[in-house]
Amino acid sequence: MKRFIDNVLEKARRILKKEGHSRKEAETPSVVPAATPVPEKPFVTQAQRRRELMMAKPSFLYIYDTANDVYHDRECKFAQAIPDEEFRMLEGFPKGKQFCSSCYRKAMIRKGIASQSHRINSYVHAFNGFGAKNEDLYKLFITHKAQVVSISKGEQAVCVQVKDDRWRIQKQDGKLLLHHNNYRVRPGGERIFYDGFHRQKVEGSGTFTDIVRVMCYHEVLGARK
Ligand SMILES: [Zn+2]
Repeated sequence: MKRFIDNVLEKARRILKKEGHSRKEAETPSVVPAATPVPEKPFVTQAQRRRELMMAKPSFLYIYDTANDVYHDRECKFAQAIPDEEFRMLEGFPKGKQFCSSCYRKAMIRKGIASQSHRINSYVHAFNGFGAKNEDLYKLFITHKAQVVSISKGEQAVCVQVKDDRWRIQKQDGKLLLHHNNYRVRPGGERIFYDGFHRQKVEGSGTFTDIVRVMCYHEVLGARK
């Protein structure tokens, strides 16, 4: 009899054990997370988002690093290393501020390039070819707010607008030539512009500095003659 009871109990234990095991197996998927990891969305900080929004605005021409008080052109490779929290942008050229020496020339030309921003490297190349000094570019684009109009295919000639006047700077046989838009003066002194250019005499040795002097102070020079 005892043996019979023992057998029954043993059988019952085995059944319970088996059920318990299978129940555990059935519960497994809901207890343990799925084996395939679900890709997480990349976490974007507020500062990162702010940087992206600023960079998306073409009117923001300059980058400012709040940590060291240094300004950059918007395309400067060194500005890419600025942490998001210290990254700021601005529209106007930061006069009298410390500029990154790597992008300073590009930053000045950037101010005079408006809608032709995509061609900035061609303009930088052309002004380098003209032998433009930093102070020439500053006078032309920052002080006198000149705007570029066009550039020739080979980057040998650039057309620039300075206030009312349009000028064509051209490098030919290693020398710089300056052409000025045609105009006539009415008896009252008002100038009437018409198509075409005439050769402009440049005082001095014909450097880019001399050319900038003529373009920026043309009205003063004209009044003296
Ligand atoms: Zn820079």
